[in-house]
Amino acid sequence: MYICLNDKIFNIISEVVTEENVKAFVIGGWVRDCLLKRDHPGKDIDIVVAGSGIEIAQKIAKKIDKRLRVNVFKNFGTAMFRWDDYELEFVGARKESYRRGSRKPVVEDGTIEDDQKRRDFTINALAISLNKETYGQFIDPFNGAEDLSRKIIRTPLDPDRTFSDDPLRMIRAIRFATQLKFNIEKDTFTSIRNNAERIRIVSKERIVTELNKIIMSEVPSTGFILLERSGLLGLIFPELNALKGVDQKEGRAHKDNFLHSVKVLDNIAANTDNLWLRWAALLHDIAKPATKKYLPDTGWSFHGHEFLGSKMIPDIFKRLRLPLDEKMKYVQKLVDLHLRPIVLSQEEITDSAVRRLLFEAGDDIDDLMLLCEADITSKNEAKKARHLENFRYVRKKLKEIEEKDAIRNFQPPVDGSEIIRTFGIKPGREVGIIKNAIREAILDGIIPNEHEAARNLMLEKGKELGLTPVS
Ligand code: ATP
Ligand code: MG
Repeated sequence: MYICLNDKIFNIISEVVTEENVKAFVIGGWVRDCLLKRDHPGKDIDIVVAGSGIEIAQKIAKKIDKRLRVNVFKNFGTAMFRWDDYELEFVGARKESYRRGSRKPVVEDGTIEDDQKRRDFTINALAISLNKETYGQFIDPFNGAEDLSRKIIRTPLDPDRTFSDDPLRMIRAIRFATQLKFNIEKDTFTSIRNNAERIRIVSKERIVTELNKIIMSEVPSTGFILLERSGLLGLIFPELNALKGVDQKEGRAHKDNFLHSVKVLDNIAANTDNLWLRWAALLHDIAKPATKKYLPDTGWSFHGHEFLGSKMIPDIFKRLRLPLDEKMKYVQKLVDLHLRPIVLSQEEITDSAVRRLLFEAGDDIDDLMLLCEADITSKNEAKKARHLENFRYVRKKLKEIEEKDAIRNFQPPVDGSEIIRTFGIKPGREVGIIKNAIREAILDGIIPNEHEAARNLMLEKGKELGLTPVS
C-alpha cells in the first residue's frame, strides 16, 4: 500500500535507510492526518528509526544537500532539519517508563512496537514503513486506522498507565477530540476523570499549548465542556470553573455563565482566527462570580464585572504562562470595554458617546464589535435580531463619526511641546490641564478635531491659568 508516500522526500529517506540497513517509519500526526485528509497531511513529518535518529538525520540531510543544517538535541536523542517547507524530526525508537511523581522518563532503546506503545493515542501511533522491502506497509498494532474511521480517541495501552506516565495526555485527548470532532472512548474518559488530579505535575507551558489549540478549534466549547466534565477544568483554570451554575432567588435565575462564555467563544470562532480575540471572548465575563449580587428590585446584577474582569487578567495570564505584553493588554481592553457598545445602543446615541468609544478602543474597535455581536447568545430569535440590528446601527454611527472626526488614532492637534513653546513654561501641571481640556472639548464635539480651533482653546485656557503667550 503506497498511500500517503507520494512526497519525494520519502524516496530519499527510503534510499538512505535501506542502504544503512536501519528500519525507519513515518509515524504520528502526519500519518493520522494523511489518512484523515488524504492529500493534505501538512509538512511536519516525524520519523522513528530502530537505531540512532541523529545519525540517520545527518546522513539524509547530507544526501539532500550538503549545506543543510541539522539541529541535534542530544539529551532527547532527536534531530531535526528543515527542507523545502518540510520540518523533519528524527528519533530513535524508544522504550520508556516513568516513575510515579516524576515526569522524567527512564529511556532505553526499543523496537518500533515499543515506541508505538509509548504514544498517546491509537490514532497517533500509526506507522508506515520506509525501507525498500516493506515500503508503504502499515504498522498498526492498536487498530488506530479503525479508530480513525470510527472517530474515536483511545489510548494504546491501559489508559490509567498512559495517563499516569504523562498526565498532559488527558488534555491532549480532549484537544484532539475537539480539533478532530472525535469522541473519547468510554474507558479512556473514565480514566481521565480518575486521574485528573495528576495534571498538577505537568508544566503550565505544556498545558497552555493544548488550551490554545482547543481555543483555535472550530467549535472550542466542546473542549471546555469536556475539561469541565472530566474534572480537569477546576484544576487548571479555577476562574473559568467558578462561572458554572445558576442561582435562583424569588423565582429569578441568571444564566449559566460558563456555558454562556464558551458559547460566545464558539460564536467568535466563526468570525476570527485571532487567538487573543478568542481569549477575550472566553474571559469577557470572568468576574461575574466575584461581582454577583441579588437586588430585590431588579434581580441578579454583576455590576462592574467588565472592570474587575480586566483587572483579573494579569494574574490569569501569569499563572497560565501566557504573554504579559501588548497581547494581554489587548485582552484586558476588550474585556473592559465589552459592555460599551451595548450601553450605546440602549440609549439615544450621541456623537460624543461614539467619539469616546472610538477614542478608547482605537484600532481595536472592529474587534470589540465582533465580541459584542458574539456575546448575543439568546435563544429568542426576535431578541437576537433586535440586538444585532442595534449593533448594525452602532457600527454605522461609528463609521460616520470616524469619517468626520478621525478619532480612532487620536493625536491631539495641539501637543505638549506647542503649549510649552507658546507660553514659555516648563513641562508641568498646566500643560496637562490644557491638553486635557482640548481632548475633552474635541470628544464632546465642542470644537472640531483641528489645529486652529485647538490652538484658540489653548490660548483661552492659558489665560484662565494666568499664562501669557511669549510669541
Ligand atoms: P499536531 O502537530 O497536529 O498538533 P501531532 O499528533 O503531530 O498533532 P505533536 O504534539 O506534534 O502532535 O506530536 C507528534 C506525535 O508525537 C504524536 O502524534 C504522538 O504520536 C506523539 N506524542 C506527542 N506528545 C505526546 C505525549 N505527550 N505522549 C505520547 N505521545 C506523544
Ligand atoms: Mg505535530
